[in-house]
Amino acid sequence: MAVELRNVTKIYGNGVARTVALDNVSLSISAGESVVLMGPSGSGKTTLLNIVAALDRPTSGEVYIMGVDVTRLPEGKLERFRLRNIGYLFQSYNLIPYLTAEQNVALPLIALGIRKELALLRARALLEFVGLEKAAGLYPHQMSGGMQQRAAIARALAANPPLIVLDEPTSNIDLENAAGVLALITAVNKIFKATVFIATHDPDVARVATRIVYMRGGKAYEAAEPPRREFKL
Ligand code: ADP
Ligand code: ADP
Repeated sequence: MAVELRNVTKIYGNGVARTVALDNVSLSISAGESVVLMGPSGSGKTTLLNIVAALDRPTSGEVYIMGVDVTRLPEGKLERFRLRNIGYLFQSYNLIPYLTAEQNVALPLIALGIRKELALLRARALLEFVGLEKAAGLYPHQMSGGMQQRAAIARALAANPPLIVLDEPTSNIDLENAAGVLALITAVNKIFKATVFIATHDPDVARVATRIVYMRGGKAYEAAEPPRREFKL
């Protein structure tokens, strides 16, 4: 199992300000699945995504990622665990402004102790994979939103993590780029054999799902029949 949540509850605040963001959610995701998480605003998508991404801890329950209960890992060990096992694509991309595209992509590898020259070599190969071979030397402010997002995807893939977590991957880009990103996510799932976990409002993203999970009021529900339409690069 790539990800397993057992009776996960997340409560923010207390007293009258108490919010149950996740209400006893259990979820098992096999390696290689492509899970799309949908649901209205405030239903708990971001909270669930952050817990699956080992960025946040539940109030109660267990969270196994690649067999490791991350709720029991101390912060120091968790950091290295994330670097090795989880690739992230945030809505804001979080590229470092004073580093070039290839330096940004190489960063997780350098953090894992890989030699700079090797890390940059792999970064350039990944930039080619996402169609940015000509942008390796550009800084984020010199790239369009779509290009920045592709660079961020290349960075998420850098350490070849078994799990990739994406938050609203199509929300800040135009339709043409969105179709490209969906094709890219499908390719990542197939070529890198990565398990993909995506939170989104965009029904188009559901096309890359092998499985759709709906959130409502902090509870998770599964769609009976997961559609799968192929996206070609
Ligand atoms: P989205 O709908 O795109 O998931 P939200 O607006 O729900 O985004 O949340 C954005 C961020 O704001 C989240 O990371 C969440 O932790 C934080 N947030 C949401 N609601 C509250 C709240 N009531 N109090 C404090 N922080 C909140
Ligand atoms: P979604 O991503 O589906 O919009 P969230 O996971 O952001 O939902 O939020 C779920 C619920 O938890 C909402 O009621 C939200 O206001 C609340 N919430 C989220 N983050 C925080 C936070 N940091 N502090 C307090 N409440 C929060």
